[in-house]
Amino acid sequence: MIASTLRTYPRLRLHLQGGVALMWPVIERKIGDLSEVLDNLGVFRSSPEELVAICPSGFRRVPIAQGPGYYLSLQGFGADQVAFAHTHPDSEEWVIVLKGGGRALLAENPIPLKTGLMIGRGAAHPHGFVSGGEGLYLLSVQLPRPAEGSTTWDQPGETSDPIDCAVAGTCRRCPRCGGHSLNVTASLFLCENCAWEF
Ligand SMILES: [Zn+2]
Ligand SMILES: [Zn+2]
Repeated sequence: MIASTLRTYPRLRLHLQGGVALMWPVIERKIGDLSEVLDNLGVFRSSPEELVAICPSGFRRVPIAQGPGYYLSLQGFGADQVAFAHTHPDSEEWVIVLKGGGRALLAENPIPLKTGLMIGRGAAHPHGFVSGGEGLYLLSVQLPRPAEGSTTWDQPGETSDPIDCAVAGTCRRCPRCGGHSLNVTASLFLCENCAWEF
């Protein structure tokens, strides 16, 4: 069954023998999320590089689909970029390395990353990432989506000077998470990863 079929019926009720009904809620799509393309195409294929435009200022995050119970996203790191250590007390995460390499920083022991590796992380485990010279593309599945304001930022980060951005305008590194942050007004930047304004 493809996504466009799911959109047709707000709820699909499967009546099983004995009168048990299974509820199958429709997937909510947010404007700008990658999942939006399924409404038009139904089926979709791509490589991570085509979906995430790397920028030298900070790592990028592109949401795929999100709801109260989940958050699927792609992350793209250029060479030697950092996602500063942080903790989600309320959300576990599954990360699959789509391409590239680097290190996952979990507890005391960094885990070397290579294409195809999967990492599971329980809620409340501090974590961060550092990409290697070849960059890094990750698929991240967070269950549930971390609640607004629940994340703690465990590593003092630093920003970078504004540069001309291939995405639009100018951008800098978020000093809180290391994420790509676009210029939204004269001197205000907004992080696309953690929504920090600075
Ligand atoms: Zn940029
Ligand atoms: Zn940030």
